[in-house]
This record gives sequence, structure tokens and C-alpha cells, in this order.
Amino acid sequence: MNKVTTATKTVTILTRYAVKATGSIVYSIRNGGNAMYLVTLNLNGSHVCLQASGLPCPSTKGHTTCYHITECSRRETLRQARENSKSELERIDRETLALIASELQAAQASTPKMSREAYNAMFDPHCYELSA
Ligand SMILES: [Zn+2]
Repeated sequence: MNKVTTATKTVTILTRYAVKATGSIVYSIRNGGNAMYLVTLNLNGSHVCLQASGLPCPSTKGHTTCYHITECSRRETLRQARENSKSELERIDRETLALIASELQAAQASTPKMSREAYNAMFDPHCYELSA
């Protein structure tokens, strides 16, 4: 599992779920003290961190966020950036292949077909005859 240590605060990501209906991302994590938390990152930016008991994370008391949310958010941003660069590379690959294919097609189309007469005029039909 991925582990990040910031001073004494450790967050280990256990699972990640994407909730398709809402676009929310749910992480289950474990901190350095082996306590489990459920972090929900919502599209509207109001993220939630719950203890395994279902009670709110004590670190969020008096704050809108905690280091669990901060770390999960950071991971999610990195993940998104990786996804974006991956699809960007795939798009470049597709465009390059399409360009090569069209250039090949153009090259083939512009190569004139040679008539039998022209071919015979260019190549001596007797050049492969064995001399006696
Ligand atoms: Zn928390």
C-alpha cells in the first residue's frame, strides 16, 4: 500500500471507490495509529472524514478539513493528472497513426500506374535471356 509520512502523520490508502451516481470518491485509509477512516471527496468540495465508528474525524473539530482529507485530495489530484496525461498520450498516438496512414495513402495514390508499353520500354524484355 502507498504510505506517506508527514512529520508524525501517516496515511495509508486501503481502498478507493468512485461513486458513479454522484462523482464522489471514497477512500478508506489507516493512520499511523492504526485507526481506520473513511474519507469522502465530493465534487462540490465539501469533503467528509469519518471514523470507522461513523463519528466525525476528531481532527476536523473546529476545521473544515483534516490531514486525512488533505492527503486523499492530494492523491486524487495526482491520479487525475496521471489519467489526463495518459489520455493525452493516447490521443497523440491516434493522431500520429492517422497521419502516417493518410500520408501512405497519398503516396500510393500519387504513384502513377505504368502502362505495359511504358514498362516494356523501360525494361529490356530480353535482359534475363541466357546467352548461348
Ligand atoms: Zn480525518
